Amino acid sequence: MTKSGAARGAGGFVNPEHWSYSLRMVPCEEVRRQYLAAMGIQLWERRVPPGIAAAATERNRAQSTSDADAASAGPGPAADPVTVGEMDWQRLAAAVGACTRCGLHLGRNRTVFGTGDIHARWMFVGEAPGAEEDRQGEPFVGRAGQLLNGMLFALGLSREDVYIANVLKCRPPDNRDPQPDEVEQCEPYLLRQVDLIRPKLIVALGRHAAHSLLRTDLALGKLRGQQLEYHGIPLIVTYHPAYLLRNPADKRKAWEDLRLASRLMGAVP
Ligand code: SF4
Repeated sequence: MTKSGAARGAGGFVNPEHWSYSLRMVPCEEVRRQYLAAMGIQLWERRVPPGIAAAATERNRAQSTSDADAASAGPGPAADPVTVGEMDWQRLAAAVGACTRCGLHLGRNRTVFGTGDIHARWMFVGEAPGAEEDRQGEPFVGRAGQLLNGMLFALGLSREDVYIANVLKCRPPDNRDPQPDEVEQCEPYLLRQVDLIRPKLIVALGRHAAHSLLRTDLALGKLRGQQLEYHGIPLIVTYHPAYLLRNPADKRKAWEDLRLASRLMGAVP
């Protein structure tokens, strides 16, 4: 079997076992399109014209810069949740960068605000930054980020097409689980991001993200496979890429979740 044949899954989609392989096979947009076309994968059209998306990406870069600037200026006044609900992107990024609302600010190197298209239809939400995210100030980098990129690729998406954020904007020490009071303090920032983006679908990545967003302690298995809701936005739950790296056999279940997400978005019959 050829490599491309091996990477092809049922229905012509990228086999989830080859998500990371797929990522390495994408040197440019044209090759990516040829690769997907050869596999019979339907490409989705961008909802936002490239010019606008590029402008949005540029704005996001500016926000990241303001975030970094604010962070380097050291802790600032705590942001009031009511005020957070009225902030524009620039003020929101600055507020996160200067936030001291919970104890996690003491151990962070950088806040991790979020990245992607601020007009995205898809929003992916994880639990909190890890060590590499804390160093780089961007969510889902490192191996877990590469796997997420592969999952996006399998959906015909890239990081620039979606918006990626975490519930917590600062890294918990030793990657421990987020604490309820930290979620309570930090969630207004995520909620404002959701309100500004108004995505068509949120994908909660992992048990902790799902529990934080849905205010439940149900097992992940009971949350998967159905349409849920976060502040009026449809939400589905799937595995965190870091979990999938440790448990590759569950990639197929994650792919089922992503296909459900695609159906909800009307992209797959
Ligand atoms: S985790 Fe959130 S609430 Fe806590 S300091 Fe960081 S930005 Fe502020």
